[in-house]
Formats: sequence, structure tokens, C-alpha cells
Amino acid sequence: MAEAIDLGFDPDALREKYRQERDKRLREDGNNQYQEVTGQFSHYVEDPYLDREIEREALFDEVEVAIIGGGFGGLLAGARLREAGVQDIRMIEKGGEFGGTWYWNRYPGAACDIEAYVYLPLLEETGYMPPKKYVDGADILAYSQQIARKYDLYRDVLFQTEVGEVHWDAGVSRWVVQTNRGDAFKARFLIMSNGPLNRPKLPGIPGIEDYRGHTFHTSRWDYNYTGGNADGGLTGLADKKVAIIGTGATAVQCVPHLAEGAAELYVFQRTPSSIDERNDRPTDTQWWQNLEPGWHQKRMDNFNTLVSGGVAEEDLVNDGWTEIIRNLLLMIQTEKDSGLSMEELQAKMELADFQKMESIRARVDAVVNDPNTAEHLKPFYRQFCKRPCFHDDYLPAFNRDNVTLVDTNGRGVERITEKGIVANGVEYEVDCIVFGTGFEVGTDYQRRCGYEIHGRTGESLSDHWRDGARTFHGLHVHGFPNLFMMGHTQTGFTANYPHALNEQSKHIGYVINQCEAGNHKVVEASAEAEEAWVQTIISLARMNEQFLADCTPGYYNNEGKPSERSLQDANYGAGPVAFFKVLDDWREEGLMSGLDLNAG
Ligand code: NDP
Repeated sequence: MAEAIDLGFDPDALREKYRQERDKRLREDGNNQYQEVTGQFSHYVEDPYLDREIEREALFDEVEVAIIGGGFGGLLAGARLREAGVQDIRMIEKGGEFGGTWYWNRYPGAACDIEAYVYLPLLEETGYMPPKKYVDGADILAYSQQIARKYDLYRDVLFQTEVGEVHWDAGVSRWVVQTNRGDAFKARFLIMSNGPLNRPKLPGIPGIEDYRGHTFHTSRWDYNYTGGNADGGLTGLADKKVAIIGTGATAVQCVPHLAEGAAELYVFQRTPSSIDERNDRPTDTQWWQNLEPGWHQKRMDNFNTLVSGGVAEEDLVNDGWTEIIRNLLLMIQTEKDSGLSMEELQAKMELADFQKMESIRARVDAVVNDPNTAEHLKPFYRQFCKRPCFHDDYLPAFNRDNVTLVDTNGRGVERITEKGIVANGVEYEVDCIVFGTGFEVGTDYQRRCGYEIHGRTGESLSDHWRDGARTFHGLHVHGFPNLFMMGHTQTGFTANYPHALNEQSKHIGYVINQCEAGNHKVVEASAEAEEAWVQTIISLARMNEQFLADCTPGYYNNEGKPSERSLQDANYGAGPVAFFKVLDDWREEGLMSGLDLNAG
């Protein structure tokens, strides 16, 4: 095996090891393993950040565009509509402020590990200079509010308001939006931007309701209990034994602070995350001031191309996310290969991936003192099977005497008792359990967004999507006129999610503008266009089917159970670069093809 010797690892052995690790984690119940946060668990989603309850009269009026969600999706939609001259907007937001995921996720250490210069939207429009390459959650929350001020969106928002039901009133060709505050107002257009990871999930562990200690989910951090703030200083935990369940991207960021604050910290792990170096640094103001107009889109496009497997002449972001592609190019250049077939390219990609993950595993050995703990912290799967993490303090936290890694060998926590957590047959008594267990992804759309929507014929979206998602471009749905959905289902998905939202919002702004210009009262995806798009999504998803099937379970692969339905619910398999081009070309063509105008 000359190749194995040259590379410093044996690809066959690694492939087999990855398979074994995945198999350990496969479970029959897939998405059903999680406990929905309703009923006796609904306190897990109460808003701990509210300083005052807003009081207002219920609204029964009419607006041009209603936008559900005040995160980056809603903000971008609002911004693009303003740019298109739309003044009559109403935004509906469950939280007490703009910010979406950054409103809710205020856990200690919360930060974005996608470079701020590509992650934060509208940087040229607002003129905001992120203070660091990787910006903190609190700064992102403040920046969300800056966007809202810039586009004068505060006058149009209903905070602390949850949508309960939406239906199309065919008599007046308007959406009727009903909320938990008794509103029932009309809107000509409706944009749904509920967020892809908005519904916290709990593990469906037996005994979870028996626990008598303190608990909360990371997305509703209880600073009253822990003390401190997003920068740490969790002094309330100084005499506490604390457990955190989960070792995903959120836990990776808050574990170092828990480790510092708690008397004892137990980290319960089912699958280790891949932890690359973060290497944060302050923004070079001179570089910033010399950026040429148009730099932001160029940089976002460059990052997007590289992380979705494309080739670009230069790597502008140049960090851990893009490194895998640098490895690949290096390999190809070294071997002077040219004209590679798709299979050959995929084989090279796998080798580059192995190489990258070998360096991630070597980093664990270099940082973590105890060899046994280090071994358990090593991820054995391909880099993009799970969200890669970038942190300089997570692995060193396991060198502290007060921190114990409880690896569950892929099985997860067994049981919760009145006093604590049982794993590997051992009960760990703790004062507090922090659930770093993530958010619902693969469950029904209606369950995740929290309200039902009824279209032109009265059919609900849940019924329309009974056998899987059905959209045109991921944005329009047949039978649901003047509706736009923002998200990742059947659209181009990129690790830099706000980039996708930006492209979607530009597209929505264009369609609404065309309707105004052409005096079209109603716009709706045709049945044929929707069906053709669904078939495109399914056939492209088949290209990724094997990759996902080989991955360790998680929300990227429907908890290890890729199915016909999950192929249909997938994103655009040819990647975000190709998808954005589909939208660009469609707008360029100017025919609004696939949409019935004045229908209904
Ligand atoms: P994840 O879904 O990524 O992680 C949930 C964790 O809980 C996993 O480690 C999971 O294990 C574990 N878990 C679930 N059930 C059990 C169980 N029964 N026993 C033990 N462990 C269990 O959620 P996160 O909140 O960490 O992250 C969600 C997403 O938010 C990320 O993927 C990322 O997209 C985003 N994020 C982005 C950040 C950024 O920098 N931009 C920072 C933080 C989050 P297993 O892996 O085995 O399923």
C-alpha cells in the first residue's frame, strides 16, 4: 500500500473505523429519540431575557407584507423590501428584540465561528466593522439591532408575539395572521423566516421528569442561577456539581466557562465534535478601510465556493473551514493530476478529508494530557458529517482537575434520576443539568415553526407536505399564494447561513417588486413547476446519499436514517453556488417562469 505509507495513514483502516463508530450510534428511533418541549417541558422554552412584558391592543388592520421572524432572515427580507421601496411591513417576533438565534443563544462563550466578514450580512450597507475575525454573540445581537435601525424596522415590529395560525382569505386575496395576543390582521404577502434551529430539543431519556435539581437548555441560559454573563464569571456555580449533556458546537463554546465556574463539571458525550484551532484576531483597521466597494459579496462568494467543494483562484478567508479545499488542491497539484473523473475527484476529496481529520485527532493528543480522555475526544467521521468546531479553550478544559469527560461510547445518557444522571451504569449526582442537546431539525415543519398555515383551498401546509416538502425554489408553494418561505429546505444550503438568507431575500424582493410593477395581485408556484423542482431536489440529493449514509448520525443525515422523505426534504444537492446561479438566471430571464400570476 504505497499510498498509505505516503499519506501517513491507512485509508482502508480509517474507512473501517469510521463505519464501526457510525454503527455504534445508529438507533431505530432516529428523530423520535428526542422529547418535544411541550406540556410539562414547555418551561424550557420560556424567555429568560425579558425585562418587561409589552402591553398592546390586538391588531385587525392590513399591511402589504408580513414577515414572521426577526432574526437575520426577517431582517434581510425587511432590508431588501425597504430597498425595493416597500414601506408597509409588519414583522412578528416571539422574542423581546431582533436577533433571532443570537437573541436566544446567550450562553457563556456564545460566538460565531464563521468569519465575521462573511457571516454578518449587509456590512457594506451599514458600514459596521466587526471588532474581531470571529465575533461574539453579544456583538451579533447588537448588530442585528443596528440593521433594524438602519432600515427603520423598529416601527414595524411586534415583539413578544407568537403566530398561532395563518390562513389565506380567498375572498379578499389576503393572508390572515392570528397571534397569541389576539391579533388577526391581513397581509398581502407573507414571508416565513422561522429559523432552521429555533425549537430546542431534549433527549428522550427515561426519568427526565424525575430530576429534582436545577435544569435549563443552553438556548435559555439561566444566569440567575449560574451568575456571570456571556463573557463567563459563573460565580453562582462555585459550590455546584454541574452536568452538561451534549458536545455539539454550543457545548464546545460554553464548557470552558462551566469548567472555570463550577466546583465539578461532568461532560456527557455521545459523539465528540471535531475541534480545530480558532486563531481569532482583532480586525486590521487599515485593511478594513482599504476594502474596495463590492468586497463583501466577493468574499462571501469566495468562501461559499470553497466550502462547498468548488475551486477559486484565491482563498480570501483562509481558515479551518477552507483548509480542506486547500489540502485537496495541494494533493492534485502534487500528483500533477489533470482531467480527473468525478469518482477520482471524490476519492481525492476523501483522502483530503482523512488528512484533515488526522490533524484534528493529532491536535487532541497534543492538547489533552490524559491519553484515555484524549482518545475519547477524537472524532472518527468525515469533517462535514457534523458541524466542525473551532475553539482554543475547549480541549484544554479537560486538563482541569474539576472536569470529567463521561464518554458513553456512542450510546448516550441512559437515565435521569431524582439526583442526577446515569451513564455506563454509573449514577453521577449533580446539582444542575445543562441540556446542550440542540434543536429539532428533522421533525415536521409545523411542529418546528409552532403554527399551522392553510392555503388557497384550505389545505394545511402539513397536509401538502404529508409525503415530504414541496416547493418551487424552496421559496414558493403551490396552493399558497403570495407566500415566501426562507430556510434551508429545497434551497441552496451553505455553512454561512446568512449568505443563503441574503440571496433568498434579494429574490423575494425582486418577485414582490415584479408583482407591484406588473400589477399582479397574486403570485403562486404552478403545480408543474413545484413538481419539477421536487424531482430536481430528489435526483440531486441522490448524489449525496452515500456520503450521508456513511456519516455518523446527527441532524445532517436525519439522525442516521436517510430515507426517501429526507431526500425530498433535502437542500439543493448541486450546492449553494449552483443554486444561487439558478435564482440569478431566473431573475435575469425576467419571465417569472414557474409562477402563475393573478392566480387565485
Ligand atoms: P447539536 O445538535 O449540534 O448537538 C447536540 C448534542 O447533544 C450532540 O453532541 C448530541 O450527541 C448530544 N445528545 C443528544 N442526545 C443525547 C443523549 N441522549 N445523550 C448524550 N448526548 C446527547 O446542538 P448544538 O446546540 O451544539 O448546535 C446546533 C447548531 O447550532 C450547530 O450545529 C451549528 O449549526 C449552530 N451553532 C453555531 C455556532 C457558530 O459558531 N456559528 C455555535 C453554536 C452552534 P450526538 O452528536 O451523538 O447526536
